[in-house]
Amino acid sequence: MTWLKRILIAIAGFAVIALIGFNLFKPQIAERAFLRAIDQNAGVDRSADLPDGLHVYLCGTGSPMPDATRAGPCLGVLAGTKAFVFDVGSGGTRNLGSMGFPIARLDSIYLTHLHSDHIDGLGELLMMSWIGGGRSAPTPVRGPIGTAEVVNGFNAAYRLDSTYRVAHHGPEVANPSGFGGASEEITIAAGPGGQHVVLQDGDVKITAIRVDHAPIEPAFGYRIDYKDRSISISGDTIYQPRFVAASEGVDLMLHEALSKKMVQAIGAKLGERGLKNPEAIFEDILDYHTDPEEAAQAAQEAKADHLVYYHIVPQLPVKMLESVFLGESKKIFDGKITVGEDGMIFSLHAGSDKIKRSD
Ligand SMILES: [Zn+2]
Ligand SMILES: [Zn+2]
Repeated sequence: MTWLKRILIAIAGFAVIALIGFNLFKPQIAERAFLRAIDQNAGVDRSADLPDGLHVYLCGTGSPMPDATRAGPCLGVLAGTKAFVFDVGSGGTRNLGSMGFPIARLDSIYLTHLHSDHIDGLGELLMMSWIGGGRSAPTPVRGPIGTAEVVNGFNAAYRLDSTYRVAHHGPEVANPSGFGGASEEITIAAGPGGQHVVLQDGDVKITAIRVDHAPIEPAFGYRIDYKDRSISISGDTIYQPRFVAASEGVDLMLHEALSKKMVQAIGAKLGERGLKNPEAIFEDILDYHTDPEEAAQAAQEAKADHLVYYHIVPQLPVKMLESVFLGESKKIFDGKITVGEDGMIFSLHAGSDKIKRSD
């Protein structure tokens, strides 16, 4: 037997012993890993060490279409010490939790419009904000006319659950007066400007912008300014010059995007198969969204630095499809383009012009 063979047999022997050892002690190893993980994560506010600035959490980049990798439309925004959520689609709250967004110190929720996929995670977020935050007053929910009806509906749906939690944890932990949402409806006077400052609090300024998502009326986009940094959020809209004007010079533009080419192809196939209703829906949704190329045009005209598609239709199950979705967008917009994915965080530090992405 050569020395090489002996070494190989010895290595194989060690590997077998290590494998047997690992299997024998698997529960102990797993438990140690678990204890280490909770030591590093449980109750730790991962947002506490973030530098001063704007931080955008992509908590939902999908649509109503089934997609295991993308929750419904949802954006978390930290502006200095203030925490906001803009729209909360299904699955958004769980993403916020796993991304370390400080739901416990959520300041308020803003809604762009009242389509179900933008609000169907609201009950869950209000529940987490109440119990996790030990709130003594309901969480403010601001949005267009109709927000009161939606918030009252969620409050009614969760009322019984709230009584169980008060009975179980006691009012010191689950203060009944902090349960649910408190709606505040935003109205923007008709006119060419079509915008209204809805919050001015220290260095944080939030402006609502009337966009065009007819027949959903009104529908808003938002611009958030903090110190020298800024972002804009389109909500659901067709290409809208008012949104472009209000987004002038933003660091980061977050725009919805529906690939008309891809949606048309799906609609045509549904039609071929005689599925009249789904075919009609795929036809109808073409007229109240923005194609990625049109969003690129909006970002170019607004002189934004970076464009992120954050509410994506249809699903893009493989990365390669992004090139079909983008079309000519990269030729239209000079700045950086990102096809948003759940879990991405964009950080805009105050006093800098950089945008840092972490996942
Ligand atoms: Zn919509
Ligand atoms: Zn939408």
